[in-house]
Amino acid sequence: MIETDILIVGSGCSGLYCALQLPPTKKILIITKSTVENSDSFLAQGGICMLRDESDYDSYFEDTMRAGHYENDRKSVEIMINSSQDVVSDLTSYGVDFHREPDGSLSFTREGAHSSKRILFHEDITGKEITSRLLEQAGKRPNITILENTKMIDLMVTGAGCCGAVVERADKSVEPVSADTTVLATGGIGGLYPHSTNYRHLTGDALALAMKYGIELENIDYVQIHPTTLFADEERSFLISESVRGEGAKLYDKNGNRFTDELLPRDVLTEKIYAQMNKDGTEVVREDLRTIPEDELKSHFPNIINHCREMGYDVTKECIPVVPAQHYFMGGVKVDHDSRTSMTGLYAVGETACNGVHGRNRLASNSLLESLVFAKRAAKAMNRERKTPERALRCRVLRTSDLKEYGNMDAMARLYHRQVRDGISQARNRRGNR
Ligand SMILES: Cc1cc2nc3c(=O)[nH]c(=O)nc-3n(C[C@H](O)[C@H](O)[C@H](O)COP(=O)(O)OP(=O)(O)OC[C@H]3O[C@@H](n4cnc5c(N)ncnc54)[C@H](O)[C@@H]3O)c2cc1C
Repeated sequence: MIETDILIVGSGCSGLYCALQLPPTKKILIITKSTVENSDSFLAQGGICMLRDESDYDSYFEDTMRAGHYENDRKSVEIMINSSQDVVSDLTSYGVDFHREPDGSLSFTREGAHSSKRILFHEDITGKEITSRLLEQAGKRPNITILENTKMIDLMVTGAGCCGAVVERADKSVEPVSADTTVLATGGIGGLYPHSTNYRHLTGDALALAMKYGIELENIDYVQIHPTTLFADEERSFLISESVRGEGAKLYDKNGNRFTDELLPRDVLTEKIYAQMNKDGTEVVREDLRTIPEDELKSHFPNIINHCREMGYDVTKECIPVVPAQHYFMGGVKVDHDSRTSMTGLYAVGETACNGVHGRNRLASNSLLESLVFAKRAAKAMNRERKTPERALRCRVLRTSDLKEYGNMDAMARLYHRQVRDGISQARNRRGNR
């Protein structure tokens, strides 16, 4: 039995930042199913939104709402935008190096469906820059321990709520982790789809456990398909970031003609691309990055240029084939504005949680921000909570729990995956019937 004050399941940006926002007196254990570099947070290319100044508030709010088809939780959107400068200030204090103008001020770019430039970036590897700095900071805190290759396979639930999780270690041993508070920060669901930009090990495990224990879920049929990923034979679909289109890249049909406005919201653009592929009888459309000035292309998108080169395309000389792929999960474990789930002792943050901020469709570069803003709020809320003696006692009773039921982990994983897939289709059907 491992004992900790706070167990955080997931070492992406939301899990790490939540840990860093907790007081150093708390003993924190972060576990990750894979190694620490293997989280979607490391893959984020485009950037992170920030409210530049008050004059942009209404426009930023409207862009987020419009992208979400006005199904967004308005209060969540308000909190996210108003907290953005605070979060960015934390990030820069951790050493995150955002691109700057010659005068030293922050430099902003634009992506699809944003009506102005409000996205901070570090080349086209913003997620890596942010998450590696968070990891560095976590490494400096003696109260934070990170266990890699350690998978949450169940929650420990009593009448007192969530008292921790059961985990499978790298050597396949199964162990309970007792915690006063547990935080689900398990990311998205891309591993359940044949084509996705996500890491394959992100399979919505928190959702499966939420279903098992009747923890409330929200909008789990809201799955974002990214309109432009490189069409190539790869395990994970490679994203051709929205900011490429924001900087002027164009989309062409099989005859080399533009067929749409490249800056439409993601879901609308995805529909346009599918319709065009259908009309043309093709598996792809073409994206032209040569419309971006070459200096700009090389300084802003070196990672995309290199990856395309590795796959046999020189983006400075030719168009590349692109196709839509699963990318982001707007739904998830239902949480309030402080990231509390419907179960006592259990929080959820990041992509696995749903506070309604994105509505039906996420606006580009809002997800890193949302993950960080609501992870910080979770930490603050946890810090305000006081453990009742009754809860401490009931959680202790569970420590003699029987671990024999965790004999066949592969079968359990298959069952979890099937349940999440079925849950998503049922939610979609229910919505269709309304
Ligand atoms: C290619 C790509 C580009 C993107 N670009 C941008 C962008 O430019 N701007 C933006 O805002 N957003 C972007 N996003 C989205 C953004 O990166 C994610 O939404 C965000 O990083 C999610 O962070 P997270 O902490 O919730 O999850 P992740 O970073 O995905 O971390 C999930 C963690 O949970 C762990 N985990 C999962 N299941 C278990 C389990 N059962 N037991 C233990 N650990 C588990 C994983 O190992 C991992 O450590 C992009 C996403 C992708 C895939």
